[in-house]
Amino acid sequence: MPITRRSLVPAAFVHLTSIMLATTTLATLAAAQSSPAASPAVEKIDYATLARIKEEGLQRSQVMDHISWIADVYGPRLTGGPGIRQAADWTKKKFGEWGLSGIHEEPWAFGKGWQLVRFHAHMIEPQVMSIIGLPKSWTPSTNGTVQVDVVLAPITAAADFEKYKGKLQGKIVLTQPARAVRMLDGRIVMRMNEDDIAEAKTTPVPAQSRAGGGSPGGFAQGQQFAQRVAEFYQSEGAVAVIDRGADSDLTAGGSDLSWQAQRVDGGTIFVGSGGSRDENAGKGLPSVVIAVEHYNRMVRILEKGVPVKMELHVETKFLDEPQGQGGFNIVAEIPGTDPKLKDEVVMLGAHFDSHHGATGATDNATGSVAMIEAMRILKAAGVKPRRTIRVALWGGEEEGLMGSRAYVKQHFADPATQQTKPEWDKLAAYGTRGILALGRCSSNGSSR
Ligand SMILES: [Zn+2]
Repeated sequence: MPITRRSLVPAAFVHLTSIMLATTTLATLAAAQSSPAASPAVEKIDYATLARIKEEGLQRSQVMDHISWIADVYGPRLTGGPGIRQAADWTKKKFGEWGLSGIHEEPWAFGKGWQLVRFHAHMIEPQVMSIIGLPKSWTPSTNGTVQVDVVLAPITAAADFEKYKGKLQGKIVLTQPARAVRMLDGRIVMRMNEDDIAEAKTTPVPAQSRAGGGSPGGFAQGQQFAQRVAEFYQSEGAVAVIDRGADSDLTAGGSDLSWQAQRVDGGTIFVGSGGSRDENAGKGLPSVVIAVEHYNRMVRILEKGVPVKMELHVETKFLDEPQGQGGFNIVAEIPGTDPKLKDEVVMLGAHFDSHHGATGATDNATGSVAMIEAMRILKAAGVKPRRTIRVALWGGEEEGLMGSRAYVKQHFADPATQQTKPEWDKLAAYGTRGILALGRCSSNGSSR
């Protein structure tokens, strides 16, 4: 989304889920660098530099090595956890080796961190089944390894509470009915067709609230009810709650694109956060998402009146927030060389954090390493830009664009007041994974 005066929100910083090559960004950035604000027509394009950038990126790419470090070795990079800290240290060290300037972190308030220590789960009666699953982030541990009965107790309406009263003490609760698993059909692997690409080239108006559903207040009411259900399970003395994820087996195209693809069910789980990071952190029940067919099997057995018993071990750790500033962005730059233009900044950015359930390779190590590699290529190619080129790798995206919002507020403008800061006038362009947002130029005040 282009950055204009009217859109001072960090919508430009939302992530997309496509992969792009660092060299593509660089070619675009180089073109941007070559366009003076006042008179684009007279600018001489530096083809020699472009050729060096292409040569470095296409012949000596290190991008796959970068991604292996920050995904394989240091992933997952859950904000506030140890992985993102290690990945950040690695990235800053590399930036230093390549000769970038001003390498630093910009912290912001996040709340408690969280870490998975151990997890395993089995159905142990009537048969033994090793269960694929993962605790939700920011949820607590079980009391060691527990072996307890499983009950099915989905609560979708107020009348359901009475049904399960007094029946959950010491039990593991399955909180949803079974979900039908469709045969895989239609679009499973996403390859963008011409229509998708055409749509991706547009600037869709961000959906206000996908989760909101139809009726006004529906989402807030839904949240309240979910909270009531969670408190009920806990007050009834349940040991842990287990679900199989969303009812839908479709997944959206990312951001505001319209396409959907079918989620593959073969043991894949989709797990996010299940607890708070504030002073209530850790006060809920251990909460686990398991593979849908492992879940469905236990439901089907229970519905036959046959008891199901599970062995469950959830071990997690809450981490105190250092100095109330547990989130951070990584920032580094190549200083501009033109005395008049060096205060103008061309920015590259991507979100660096991930969820805890996997290594965060596609979301969003791909975006981050494209930007990391872009900076390496520029230094390796000996580029001496007239304007400053700055990279920022955001934390806390998965918890709500926290890092990029903090940066916008601190450097450019407070979206609440729309009051710009001096740096706003110096922002010439912003690039994130395949998008180059050309912003306001200081010399003529236009948005483009
Ligand atoms: Zn993401």
